[in-house]
Amino acid sequence: MEIYNPKGFNLPPIKIGKRKYRINIEQDQTVKNFINTKLLLDNDFNKLYSNILKKSKEVISCFNIIDVVEDDLFRNLFFHFTKTNLSRSDNYKKFLIIQRKLRHPSRIKDEEAKKELILEAIKDNCKEIKKRLKNLNRQIENSISHFEREKGIDLNILSSSSVYFCKKCNKILSINKFKQQKCICGERIARVSQIEQIPIHHFNQNMINFLENNYWLEFAIDYILKRKKINTLIGQEVLGNSGVYHEIDNIAYCPNENFRFFCECKNSEVKESDIFIFSGKMIDIGGTRGYIFTTSKNVSDEIKRLARSKNIDIIVNVLNKDLDILIKEIKE
Ligand SMILES: [Zn+2]
Repeated sequence: MEIYNPKGFNLPPIKIGKRKYRINIEQDQTVKNFINTKLLLDNDFNKLYSNILKKSKEVISCFNIIDVVEDDLFRNLFFHFTKTNLSRSDNYKKFLIIQRKLRHPSRIKDEEAKKELILEAIKDNCKEIKKRLKNLNRQIENSISHFEREKGIDLNILSSSSVYFCKKCNKILSINKFKQQKCICGERIARVSQIEQIPIHHFNQNMINFLENNYWLEFAIDYILKRKKINTLIGQEVLGNSGVYHEIDNIAYCPNENFRFFCECKNSEVKESDIFIFSGKMIDIGGTRGYIFTTSKNVSDEIKRLARSKNIDIIVNVLNKDLDILIKEIKE
């Protein structure tokens, strides 16, 4: 925690700090590159990264299957069919069918047949996963390079994972490093020649968190405010009079005017409760003026009225508006 008391401002100092979780995310090089594109409010870019986000989550869910317990085949099977994001409901149906087959009275006596059935199902799924990962990688790389060509820019926002597959059964054995082990198919993996190594490009976990927590929107709003020569502190926790810390998306300082205001960024509809919570936070930290920026296209007159009564302005549709219009809407 630090006391924030910028030079040249005659305002009561505030006690602020940033959570470690956020600091780590913001220090990631791909996240930094992402912010530096200055394209955060570009509609096409938004579509691009939303799409890559979805695909990257699927990629990472596929990586998770390396954590399965090796010798428990049935658990392995369950994991394969339910923990990956590959068309979840379809997979679950497949899993139930196999489970039903396993319960078949004639099979119970035959442990070997049971094992064989499970193994076959896992191998099938491994093949599916490998195919899917290759597809996802191709789609992600194509969409990025297409965007780069269209916009004449260079994007360095992807991370690469080297995925090691068993050559015999296609199971993912490890990520980013070779590991000796016994594969589920029975193969003893001792040499690199027994594996197939495929690079997969995707958003890393920091990028995923950055996007899913809507931190990107706070950086986008910072970018707009900077165009108005207003500096902001992004994603700080501010100590209130109550002794409670409040997360404030952007704290904006108006130069030469000894004035600061507070911003809340929402990638969803603005609800009545959002106004009350934001207003409550402001009162506790001694703020009098606020803005809510939202990607939502509209907000009801009632909500607007409520916000106005708390000295909060709502700026809607930030993803689809011209930058100049957005700048004009900020009255400070
Ligand atoms: Zn294998």
